[in-house]
Order: sequence, then structure tokens, then C-alpha cells
Amino acid sequence: MSRANCIEGLRNKIFMAQNDCIFCKIIVKELSSKIIIENNDVIVIQDIVPKAPVHYLIIPKKHIADVMALQEIDAQLVGKLLLMAKELGAKLTGSQAFRLIVNNGSDVGQSVFHLHFHFLSGKKMLDF
Ligand code: AMP
Ligand code: ZN
Repeated sequence: MSRANCIEGLRNKIFMAQNDCIFCKIIVKELSSKIIIENNDVIVIQDIVPKAPVHYLIIPKKHIADVMALQEIDAQLVGKLLLMAKELGAKLTGSQAFRLIVNNGSDVGQSVFHLHFHFLSGKKMLDF
């Protein structure tokens, strides 16, 4: 690996918590939440206002405001978010069907400006 790539990789690993961000506070355990699973890059928590019997939030530990703030360097991290969805899906009992939603912008309902996937399951959702 080149030095430049190595430095870029390291920079990607360091997540900078934003003072006013609820999810950053959850990630550094300043705020409590029901943590389902976490690893070095991703945390999954229970949504505080669940809209389905199973409603998790898959959150990168790196503060990224939304999809539009993603950079090329985040490509691997985005893959890890999807692989986490796969891991959660494999643990589901019943049909193993689930829906992933990402809101980008307040006009479509984004209320927390730290990227996250909603992982919804446990009921029929044929309304899309
Ligand atoms: P969005 O509206 O797409 O930005 O989604 C934000 C989600 O975060 C909503 O479904 C909220 O219910 C959820 N939420 C907000 N605060 C918390 C919290 N402290 N713990 C868990 N979930 C939260
Ligand atoms: Zn944040």
C-alpha cells in the first residue's frame, strides 16, 4: 500500500464526534441507547420511536451528515453498513424480510443529520 493510501485509510478510521450530534453522543456513550451490535466502524441501535416491530438504526461511527456528504474515501464504510444489514437480516426469525431506508434532507423526513440506515422488519410492508 502506498503512503498516501495508508494516510487516507487512517484518516477514514478516525471519526470526529460533532458536539451537537445525538448519534455522535451515542457512539461515544455520552448518551445511552439500546445497542444491538457494534464494531470498530458501525453501531446499531434500537430506534427510540419504532415504526415497526423491529426498527434498528445502522450508523457509521464516522460523522457523515447525509448521503450527499459521502466521499470516495467512504466507499468501504458504506459497504460495511450494508453488510451489517445482511448480518442483522440473518439473525431475524420468521420471514427474514426487511426494508432499508435512508432519508437525505429534511424534506423527506431526515431529522438527525448523521448518516443512518433504518432497518425495518417484523410486519408486512407492501405500501411502497
Ligand atoms: P431520520 O428522521 O431519518 O433522520 O431518523 C432519525 C431517527 O432517529 C428517528 O427514527 C428517531 O426516532 C431516531 N432517534 C432520535 N433520537 C434517538 C435516540 N436518542 N435514540 C434512538 N433513536 C433516536
Ligand atoms: Zn454525528
